[in-house]
Amino acid sequence: MTRIVVLGGGFGGIEAMRVLERKLGHRDDVELLLISDKNYLLFTPLLPQVASSLVEPRHIVQPIRDIRGAGRFRFRRDRVERIDLAARRVLLAEGVADYDRLVLALGGVTPTFNIPGVESHALEYKALEDAILLRDHVIDLAEHADHEPDPAARRRMLTVCVVGGGYTGVELIAELQDFFESYVVPRYRGIDPGDYRLLLLEAGQEILRGVHPTLAEKARESLWHEGIEIRTGARVTRVTAGAVEIEGSETIPVGLTVWAAGVKGHPTLAGLATERDRLGRVIVNAHMRLPGHPEVYGVGDAITIEGRPEASIPIIPAALAHARLAAENIVAELAGRPPRTIEFAPQGMLVSLGEKHAVVEVMGVRFSGYPAWLFWNALHLYKLVGLRKQVQVALDWSLARWFPRDSAIMRQPQHCTVCCHTPQARRDAA
Ligand SMILES: Cc1cc2nc3c(=O)[nH]c(=O)nc-3n(C[C@H](O)[C@H](O)[C@H](O)COP(=O)(O)OP(=O)(O)OC[C@H]3O[C@@H](n4cnc5c(N)ncnc54)[C@H](O)[C@@H]3O)c2cc1C
Repeated sequence: MTRIVVLGGGFGGIEAMRVLERKLGHRDDVELLLISDKNYLLFTPLLPQVASSLVEPRHIVQPIRDIRGAGRFRFRRDRVERIDLAARRVLLAEGVADYDRLVLALGGVTPTFNIPGVESHALEYKALEDAILLRDHVIDLAEHADHEPDPAARRRMLTVCVVGGGYTGVELIAELQDFFESYVVPRYRGIDPGDYRLLLLEAGQEILRGVHPTLAEKARESLWHEGIEIRTGARVTRVTAGAVEIEGSETIPVGLTVWAAGVKGHPTLAGLATERDRLGRVIVNAHMRLPGHPEVYGVGDAITIEGRPEASIPIIPAALAHARLAAENIVAELAGRPPRTIEFAPQGMLVSLGEKHAVVEVMGVRFSGYPAWLFWNALHLYKLVGLRKQVQVALDWSLARWFPRDSAIMRQPQHCTVCCHTPQARRDAA
């Protein structure tokens, strides 16, 4: 029996398992096991729309057991704690799993660069829970600001600062702008249009690095037109509940800080005796294998491919390409065929800029504005896994044309350490 274990039920892990299932699912001498700490696949491109209450959280996740359908692979919801390469064993929160072939697809985490205060006073923005928490905090701040008599305190409460000018930060801030404009201002009678402030901070000299400069400039213009403040060359050196400090310039009072500053390797893989790049991502070769461990493959955001930076960027198409190749190379190896090498270069970039605006580059064709927004929506609806989810998201989008967004706070922020109205933040400010 050959035991093939895939770790991580994100885009990379699910795609690897799909290919393995298709090619090896019929074989009685092969056991397929997928392990992930979440029992669903999260469609990350729609996370900003969860944060802005446009789309219901459940509509952008697909349970792994439903994706599997009639497939034969086993799924285990468990947390990977450690991998023993020598013993070919994965240590889990609730047991162990032995393997003959292993695919690492645990994704990445957001780096904090050891900046003081980020972990305790900024919200993360990576998982579904993060987007729900962010949405609830923003609405909670609006509830406080609605009855705050002091205009300066109100404006501070309604200042949301997003750190990271990559496409995740840009898409998030554009969605928040829509939320404030179309929902908060009309419904909260104590809040005027001039009371809220959205701030995007980027340490580099440009936003949307990796996007064609013409499109990045168009995006910048669009955000500026919407009233979003963008500061480039702004390196954050400290975050407190209620303020962000920028190197060499000033401390900005804010209501809430969201940390969306890139991707680094998964901490669970930090203990592996193998090479990593400066972002802590595990280095694999062009066959997607760990050097010195040909039985272990790595895919997606958790890894970087030696000498292939263009194929190592943390986006979904790259994770899918890695996963297909890793699975095909496992199949080839079992059949005694030589492995193939990765051939992937991004075919474009799509960045949503809120309602009715986006910038798109697909196979060398670049466009922006409303047509790009329509294209962005159509493509993401098509890519969403499962007809049911596609219908649910399409309905969410349509209903938002006629009905207000839902601003019920699902989890009342308890013991909040991030917002400016907490007792600690008030003491700090005083
Ligand atoms: C807000 C946001 C928006 C994005 N938008 C886009 C976009 O529009 N287009 C695009 O191309 N890319 C986008 N991305 C990037 C894209 O989501 C990633 O590149 C992609 O998900 C990487 O796939 P992966 O399989 O490597 O990791 P992931 O999809 O992150 O999957 C990792 C899986 O491993 C599981 N896991 C983690 N740790 C453990 C553990 N210890 N034990 C067990 N399981 C574990 C996780 O729960 C998860 O299921 C976005 C990312 C974010 C955060």
